[in-house]
Amino acid sequence: DAAGAALEVRGLTAGYGSLAVIHDVSFSVGRGEIVGLLGRNGAGKTTTLMAIAGFLGRYGGEVRVDGTPLVGPAYRRSRGQVGIVLEGRSTFPSLTVRQNLQLAGAPVDEAVELFPELRTKLPLKAGVLSGGEQQMLALARTVGRHPTVLLIDELSFGLAPAVSERILERLRAVATALSAGVVLVEQHIHFAASFVDRALIMNEGLVRAEIPAAELAARESEIERLYLGGV
Ligand code: ATP
Repeated sequence: DAAGAALEVRGLTAGYGSLAVIHDVSFSVGRGEIVGLLGRNGAGKTTTLMAIAGFLGRYGGEVRVDGTPLVGPAYRRSRGQVGIVLEGRSTFPSLTVRQNLQLAGAPVDEAVELFPELRTKLPLKAGVLSGGEQQMLALARTVGRHPTVLLIDELSFGLAPAVSERILERLRAVATALSAGVVLVEQHIHFAASFVDRALIMNEGLVRAEIPAAELAARESEIERLYLGGV
């Protein structure tokens, strides 16, 4: 139901300088819903997240959060409603976990409730955490601002599958608790199949297909062959 959507993207065309990299991208994400964004390297997934967050020039189209278009002054007001976690774990390694949360304006009690693994790590420097724990901290920092829309790039990058699974389970709990709409860029169709509600398949800057989670696993080889195979 687009009317009550957390995020609506309509005809979004965006890129770098005068070069458009994504073209006419349209989709919506309901509250509490997790939508996967799949595609091979260079398909335009990261560009899509950054364009939604307002980091890139938009050449066309519209982005609405909770029904409000993100443009001009409204964009500045609504900016806090869009949280983005980019690859590379945006944490401060020489500050403690607690300081990292506080600097981000994330309530510490709430963060450890959503990410119990962080409780005993609060006094430690973020730089000594494992990759999975750092990813949780990066998520907790962003989630702590209670965004309506959460944009997440390659959560499972460089992590052991079991660790990725635990974080994706937490993400599901977060989406439900905040009633937030989540866009999750994911390389692994297996993970996507078990953790997203729907998946968008991107290729060469276009959304080629939108597939319900229930069909993802069954159509995996077709999707791989059509859109995700080697270059
Ligand atoms: P990956 O998983 O490799 O990050 P992706 O699907 O996220 O892939 P993007 O990073 O969005 O893909 O890249 C899409 C296209 O935009 C690529 O052709 C890339 O070369 C180009 N691109 C990315 N960043 C820039 C930039 N800063 N300036 C110019 N072109 C860029």
